Amino acid sequence: MMGMQLAPAQLFYDFCLDDHVPADHLLRRIDRFLDLESVRTALKPFYSSIGRPSVDPELMMRMLIVGDCMGLRSERRLCEEVHLNLAYHWFCRLGLDGNVPDHSTFSRNRHGRFRQSDILRHLFETVVERCLAEGLVGGEGLAVDASLIAADTNKQRSIPGDAWRAQDHGANAHRAVQEYLATLDDAAFGAASEVTPKFVSPSDPAAQWTGAYKGHAFFAYATNYLIDTQHAIILDVEATRAIRQAEVGAARTMLGRTAERFGLKPQHLAADSAYGSAKNLAWLVKTRQTAPHIPVIDKADRTDSTLSRVDFVYDPEQDHYTCPGGKRLVQYRRNFTTPRTGVTKDGVRFYRAKQSDCQSCELKPRCCPNTPRRRVPRDLDEDARDVARALAGTPAFKRSRHHRKKIEMLFAHLKRILKLARLRLLGPNGARDEFLLAATAQNLRRLAKLRPMPGFAGVGA
Ligand code: SF4
Repeated sequence: MMGMQLAPAQLFYDFCLDDHVPADHLLRRIDRFLDLESVRTALKPFYSSIGRPSVDPELMMRMLIVGDCMGLRSERRLCEEVHLNLAYHWFCRLGLDGNVPDHSTFSRNRHGRFRQSDILRHLFETVVERCLAEGLVGGEGLAVDASLIAADTNKQRSIPGDAWRAQDHGANAHRAVQEYLATLDDAAFGAASEVTPKFVSPSDPAAQWTGAYKGHAFFAYATNYLIDTQHAIILDVEATRAIRQAEVGAARTMLGRTAERFGLKPQHLAADSAYGSAKNLAWLVKTRQTAPHIPVIDKADRTDSTLSRVDFVYDPEQDHYTCPGGKRLVQYRRNFTTPRTGVTKDGVRFYRAKQSDCQSCELKPRCCPNTPRRRVPRDLDEDARDVARALAGTPAFKRSRHHRKKIEMLFAHLKRILKLARLRLLGPNGARDEFLLAATAQNLRRLAKLRPMPGFAGVGA
């Protein structure tokens, strides 16, 4: 017999919200690791002690975490979903009849007390501390990388880079422009490069016009991750302009901050060749005493089958190279009254063979076919490059190269599952907020996966 759903006649129900959230629901698994008491304490000085009670900041934090964990990118949609979804109600401690705040509450707080208190970083670090407490961070091997996230602006509304001048924008400029003007001396944004970009977006001038993906160029920010390679826990995240100098600078900032906040000093750092400049390697080896598992950027390698620099042997005690023909290459062959350093403005020394040696050498066609004598450059930080070269190819280096892929998986997860392929907020602070929240959500999901609830081992997150 066909059944028919009748309109409920009961006036009162015996209803327990907790019973209606599945035992293995992602938010239930995440909830065990979330303690927002310190968030409430950190925000307290930013609320008045008199007047009407505000929306509970813990509720807003929980809603933001729901949004990022479940890939709900719009705050308007987030409010609708929290209103309708029982599991979201349960996670936000709303009960059945709790009031969901208006979406505008989030933007007001984001530009106000959330930013003044840097509460999103506090939340991120609270979750990292929980990962440390759960034993998910080894701390010996870290990896760093950056990924481009499209800014919420497009080419049609851009202007040529030289047509945008900072001095034309004053106190009346809109928020994203003012944020950019405030970061002009910041190495992650304005001071990262003196090159005028081809196009600038007047609505978000900090967004970088980039063709790094070889396809269509677009406006983007870079999200930089520093992860522990043991379980791919994100230890730090930083928003920068989408250019290499800013990304390398962010790696240093994150390593310094991780040491300061969590006392983590890695034995080795894995990264791709973008981080393999002599200067960066020297900073890692000499300043941080960290082994660089990083391919060296070496422009001295030749691809035209002539002899490369590796064919010349350097003697650090005598400070000279010996060529394959057994001749010496030195910086100077005579003594100057005023000693010369011989260092170029790029921090390079040149070692030269004797012209008479090269002219009579049978290796000359393979060594210096187009010049009268061979000249070999040596960077001031070549010793740090030598350390990195010696590590390349070792079993530890190969393991790091394999583990480094975990960071790529986190970026793929960020864009596909958390749906952060394009930013929703404008300006450097908007990018920072979105990246911090997304990294917090990713760490919470890792915690939920790696520390499953009893009886639910192996549930994915
Ligand atoms: S050409 Fe000059 S530098 Fe090259 S191998 Fe011969 S002597 Fe040495």
